[in-house]
Amino acid sequence: MKETSVDLWIKDFIELTDTQFERFEQAIKSERGFWLYDIKEKKIYLSDGVVYLTIQSENIEDYVKKLMAENEFIHLLNLAKESVENKQNGFSVRVKLKEGRWIFVCATILYKKATPFRIVGTFEDVTPHVSCDLRLSRYIELIAYYDDVTGLPNRNFLNEKIRERIEESKKENSKFWTIFIEVDNFGYINEVFGHAVGDEFLKSIAMEIKKFLPREWIFSRFGGDEFVVVTTDVEKALVVQIVENLVERFSRSWSVMGKWLYTSINIGIAGYPQDGTEADTILKNAEIALTVAKKRGKDMGKSLYEFYERSMTEEILRRVEIESKILRGIQNKQFFLVYQPKVSRDGRTVVGFEALLRWNSPRGILATDKFIQIAEESGLVYDLNRVILDIVCRDIKYMKENGFKKVPVAINLSGKEFAMYNMIGILGKYLEKHNVTPEDIEIEVTERVILTNLELSKEIFNKLYKKGIRISIDDFGTGYSSLELLLTLPVHALKIDKKFINKIEFFGNEYVIVKNIIYMAKEMNLKTIAEGVERKEQYEILKELGCDEFQGYYFSKPMRIEEVAELIK
Ligand code: C2E
Ligand code: CA
Ligand code: CA
Repeated sequence: MKETSVDLWIKDFIELTDTQFERFEQAIKSERGFWLYDIKEKKIYLSDGVVYLTIQSENIEDYVKKLMAENEFIHLLNLAKESVENKQNGFSVRVKLKEGRWIFVCATILYKKATPFRIVGTFEDVTPHVSCDLRLSRYIELIAYYDDVTGLPNRNFLNEKIRERIEESKKENSKFWTIFIEVDNFGYINEVFGHAVGDEFLKSIAMEIKKFLPREWIFSRFGGDEFVVVTTDVEKALVVQIVENLVERFSRSWSVMGKWLYTSINIGIAGYPQDGTEADTILKNAEIALTVAKKRGKDMGKSLYEFYERSMTEEILRRVEIESKILRGIQNKQFFLVYQPKVSRDGRTVVGFEALLRWNSPRGILATDKFIQIAEESGLVYDLNRVILDIVCRDIKYMKENGFKKVPVAINLSGKEFAMYNMIGILGKYLEKHNVTPEDIEIEVTERVILTNLELSKEIFNKLYKKGIRISIDDFGTGYSSLELLLTLPVHALKIDKKFINKIEFFGNEYVIVKNIIYMAKEMNLKTIAEGVERKEQYEILKELGCDEFQGYYFSKPMRIEEVAELIK
């Protein structure tokens, strides 16, 4: 290779064997410059256009090292070595200096008969570009690690943090807790009020939860309506105190964008190391504890928290098994309805039926108490609901063809089904399919279901009412008995719960309650139906009190559709 203009340029350098570091530093601080490194002589020539320097062999490394941030010099050196070894034409690299500036170094390797002998290049201050790049990568990190609705760290971030915390805890022999929080009702709020309200709702919940947590704890949004907290090395008692406060706070309603929303939360907690030593296991076990808390909470009608226990996993596995059996049952058409007549005051005339679900399962015919809750909690009740609506409309058609003219059939709607906003559309589809009119259908909903979804209930009730579908309140008197409900909802009838009917013959408090329910209903123009009537005396007392309709084993047990046709004969 011929000597180039660079060599000539170098010849003009003022040779200084005792170059001061300050001068070197000064040269490199300029915005751009040239440099040349003589491999054989181990000399570096440097120019910023003003200062020309030559630096002697021994101190080159020191000089360069002193200027660069940690590890940057090693990186640069490795890159240069690699390029030379691989006989590359050159390399370029961004280098960070100690004082925070960035320079971009370009290098061309000059070869003499295939042997490298000099490296020449330029350097340039690129600090402004780099900070822009850094801002960009910070932004990318924000997207990757933070949730855009709440601004909280997201699942990716959380997973990494848990892993880090596990490593720390291993080293320090310490512990920590993972707290899984789920917000109830979020799905329905989204459906009914739209995503804007849903997002605001989540934000305000996140903010509220955060208020209860120590600053050093990690608080992240795990997904939809789930949040996960990771604590520092603290005692169980502190965790208990904080989650109790949380549960307490979330038992009140919220005002979001001018709407009062009711919600509650459930919490599951797993600890390191006793409940798992890997991030996935810890999270899974906290979620299992949450599932159990949710179920127990639902039974008790309130929010709960639970610490993970090994037996919970078995419980969950059992549930999963039942769920898959229910799913198979739906596919194999193992579900059917039985019909219990409602009779008029004469005790004989059938004025309606209540459809009750049965499962012809591998374990025999099961009533709803064995599976409806699991179906509800797993969401399978949505599928089940379609099955029920399909069968009931088909059977109503059959009844009408067999002599029953105007005898409505009541179906029961559970909590989850009720939250299913498009239920009305689905119902319409099956009515049409089997050529059944809305007057042939009645819907029974419990007070508890109505109250947990009051806004939605009002909307659905009004839509059903407009379609001509009647609604009764089931198990009346057992729930919150909010009489206000009767004023705000288009209700057609009250079903007096079996609990009161059971003891009516003793003329105690139950008698008084039933008497007053019937009295009030009459004044408000509502029909009353007594359920679970098992004895003649009960029927007679109820009749005396003015009850309109009766249902119970005294008149008839629930029967199969084929038996229903027999009734008429
Ligand atoms: P419910 O709506 O209060 O239904 C009345 C329950 O009392 C039925 O039990 C019925 O068989 C029973 N029963 C009727 N008369 C008497 C009586 O004289 N004595 C006694 N001891 N019991 C009587 P079942 O069928 O086991 O249903 C239990 C609950 O399951 C129902 O309570 C209802 O809430 C729910 N359910 C039933 N069918 C469905 C359904 O298709 N969908 C949904 N979501 N829930 C259903
Ligand atoms: Ca019912
Ligand atoms: Ca009932």
